[in-house]
Amino acid sequence: MDYIANPLLTCLFLVLLWLQWRFPLRRQHFSVLHRLVRNFVLSIPGFALVRFAMLPIPIAIAIWASDRHVGLLNWFPLPAWAVVIATFLLMDYAYWWWHWAMHMVPLFWRFHNVHHTDLDLDVSTAARFHFGDMIFSIAFLSLAVMIFGIPPIMLVIFFTTFEAATLFHHSNWRLPIELERILNLLMVTPRMHGIHHSIVQRETNSNWGTIFCWWDKLHRTLRRDVPQDAVTVGVAAYRDEHELTLGKLFALPFRQQRAWRLPDGEIPERAVQSADELAE
Ligand SMILES: [Zn+2]
Repeated sequence: MDYIANPLLTCLFLVLLWLQWRFPLRRQHFSVLHRLVRNFVLSIPGFALVRFAMLPIPIAIAIWASDRHVGLLNWFPLPAWAVVIATFLLMDYAYWWWHWAMHMVPLFWRFHNVHHTDLDLDVSTAARFHFGDMIFSIAFLSLAVMIFGIPPIMLVIFFTTFEAATLFHHSNWRLPIELERILNLLMVTPRMHGIHHSIVQRETNSNWGTIFCWWDKLHRTLRRDVPQDAVTVGVAAYRDEHELTLGKLFALPFRQQRAWRLPDGEIPERAVQSADELAE
């Protein structure tokens, strides 16, 4: 992780930073530098957690599970290629449910809310997680690794891919629509995830996937019918920049949570639905 995965992820971050600057997808409404700094500082405790707990704990559990023969993949020995496929399918689908729970369980939402309060969406949003969000994630990841019996090496490979996918779909890079259509058969793209960050709650409650887009197809929660410039990014009740300073963001999960309404009490809705931008 330290010698291969982290340098790779750092390179990907820089490449996406350049691509989104060169080929922007959505119009940005707030200072990029300001947000970059804020998201970076907010993510520092998260980075420390990933390095010292997020991976070491689940990896220790994965080693323990393979020694003790615990978990699905340890009970049913499969050829190596099948283990790779099974790991990606099982883990990504488990994360789909986990992301759903982050939004639906009020305690989890308090923390995940911080991620969604970003008023523009770009590759730096991928790092904007409250450390509380990460702590819950460690517990979830550990449990999933134990139940599925994920081999330690596969855990590292999956986790790196998962982080790369997260960077990619948060980025504000305008992929050529033909390329996006092809990728959309397989994976979550920036346009898809952009809709998940909308202030319209019905749109936020869609596109929960991280790597593959199939789970949203399966659950009928896939939405691609909102053009990117029609998306207002953020959480309806938290749209005042002065309320989203670093100190207030760290404290946000511990404050009373506001209902999903704009400051004037209105519930954001979309009157006209346009056609699926990505359908042929
Ligand atoms: Zn989310």
